[in-house]
Amino acid sequence: MNTRRDFLQKIGGSVLALHLAPLVAKADADRVFEPSYAGPVLRVAICGLGGYGTRVAEAMQACVKAKLVGVISGTPSKIKSWQSKYGIPEKNCYNYENFDNIKNNPDIDAVYVITPNALHHDQVLRVAKAGKHVICEKPMALNAKQGQEMVDACTKAKVKLLVGYRMHFEPKTLEIIRMRKAGELGKVRFFQGLCGFKTGDPGQWRLNKELAGGGSLMDIGIYAINGSRYMIGEEPIWVTAQETKTDPIKFKVGVDETIQFQLGFPSGATASCLSTYNMNNLDRFFLTGDDGFAELMPATGYGPIQGRTSKGELTNPHITHQTVQMEEMADVILKGKQPIIPVDGNEAVKDLKVIDAIYEATKSGKKTLISI
Ligand code: NAD
Repeated sequence: MNTRRDFLQKIGGSVLALHLAPLVAKADADRVFEPSYAGPVLRVAICGLGGYGTRVAEAMQACVKAKLVGVISGTPSKIKSWQSKYGIPEKNCYNYENFDNIKNNPDIDAVYVITPNALHHDQVLRVAKAGKHVICEKPMALNAKQGQEMVDACTKAKVKLLVGYRMHFEPKTLEIIRMRKAGELGKVRFFQGLCGFKTGDPGQWRLNKELAGGGSLMDIGIYAINGSRYMIGEEPIWVTAQETKTDPIKFKVGVDETIQFQLGFPSGATASCLSTYNMNNLDRFFLTGDDGFAELMPATGYGPIQGRTSKGELTNPHITHQTVQMEEMADVILKGKQPIIPVDGNEAVKDLKVIDAIYEATKSGKKTLISI
């Protein structure tokens, strides 16, 4: 198991300090893995014990500010094995029918929804109604309308809604944003985001429009959309997009295989991106300005992320993305901390507006104006 102690032993305190020095102040490094942390702890139930839920649960074992205390699942055998693995008490276990009862459980602060995309909207509304904070996986919803309803429901219930944008806490990503904000890249002109992989099993929910809400764009292309916004540091005002499909049997109507899209920003900067379920070796961000460039490759995988800029190689350390994300989200929820790149529901609605516009542009073939 990847524990905090394992992590510290693996990298060694001095190495950690050395590598973090150029990017993260010492105080920040301490905050992530603070050995003597005695502050409030975010008590989390995970809803959906699949592939990514399992990864988050493992990563949370290294957290000091967030703790896995509950589960919501439709599979009793999974609940049993998670209970014994993570010491989860029976009273914190729910299924999809009865989890509204979580409102009566004072030992759970937040629910992390990690189910297929189409289920997020209803599950987040139910968690909000139960009066618990929500963390929801990306894409937060199937479209901007659903997303806005989720934001409104959480506002009404006075609970926080965050989205699992783990790259928003990734050190090399944050270093590039620091450089751009400090003017070290000069006037930013262009971003390229290439995101894709060859997807496998044709029977998986990701290739079912009803559960996925689309295809590669919902799943992996969203990283290029989100990345173009935080790398350029502006909101897009127009979109053009082109869809190509080489395998209409595997990628049925409404499930996009490959989409290339372009975004225009108020400053005149542009982005050119590729989202695909049918090409490998595509995980690259490139940002260029008048005075410098930055490249991440891989840019959004589980890491280590690698990158360089016109000033040289980026040497910031790899820290398990989901561990840092949950540590930081605990601070956002419990202490009102403002992350460098927002991770709230409004941020997700912005991405969903771009997704809506891209799908519209693939159909119309025209430039689609957007207002975010
Ligand atoms: P998965 O198929 O591995 O797990 C999905 C879980 O949902 C399973 O445990 C399944 O039993 C459960 N489930 C509940 N109702 C279901 C239904 N009606 N149909 C199918 N499954 C149902 O999927 P995953 O990879 O864990 O993805 C879950 C979510 O997490 C998705 O929204 C995905 O986009 C997101 N995700 C995010 C990242 C990231 O890096 N942030 C990575 C992977 C997945």
